[in-house]
Amino acid sequence: MKQVTDHVYHVGDSGCSVFLIDTHPEDGLILIDCGMSLEMIKKSITKSGLNPRDIQHCILTHFHIDHIGACHDLKMYNQNVKFYAHELDAKAIEEKGHDQKTAASWYSVDYIPVSLEKKITQEKEILHFGNYDFQCIHTPGHTPGSICVYIEIDNKNILFGQDIHGPFYPAFGSSLEDYQKSMNKLLGLEIDILCEGHFGIFRPSEEVYKYIKRHMNLNKP
Ligand SMILES: [Zn+2]
Repeated sequence: MKQVTDHVYHVGDSGCSVFLIDTHPEDGLILIDCGMSLEMIKKSITKSGLNPRDIQHCILTHFHIDHIGACHDLKMYNQNVKFYAHELDAKAIEEKGHDQKTAASWYSVDYIPVSLEKKITQEKEILHFGNYDFQCIHTPGHTPGSICVYIEIDNKNILFGQDIHGPFYPAFGSSLEDYQKSMNKLLGLEIDILCEGHFGIFRPSEEVYKYIKRHMNLNKP
């Protein structure tokens, strides 16, 4: 597990990049997406001297299989884990039969649904874990219910922007118009560190700005 900054870690990559925030002692470990392999998560967290049984909450940024594939295994391993996602992406996470949307058919994966503890419904909604406010910002575009998670930790503003690069397909319910609006929302934030879902970690804020702008220019309606 690689440290991103104090209390924030890049667990590893299995499908997507999985990130972890350590809120000990109050709410244990929080995951941003869970990727496709519980084994990767368990190994990586254990190696760093933390306990994967301490995972209490997992915020899902959207319904794609490479971000949610390990949810069921994680729940079987640790019944305490609670999942969160936007209501517009909720059905594909909680029900079977959305393999086009989740891209499970493309990955030839048999997705087993999990229940969400809470659905994000607002433009911006805060989940409190430990001493931190996890701001879930609705950023549709890649999928209708895509969210980015924004937190301030030790005077650093971190954005977990999984898949803000796209891609955009009708089967996902993508919208380039929504995407441009969503990215403009992000450009209005102070972001010191961007943790992306497939392309790594960007800092300082100028690099984050450039990254978002570049993808906006590549993905005009
Ligand atoms: Zn995706």
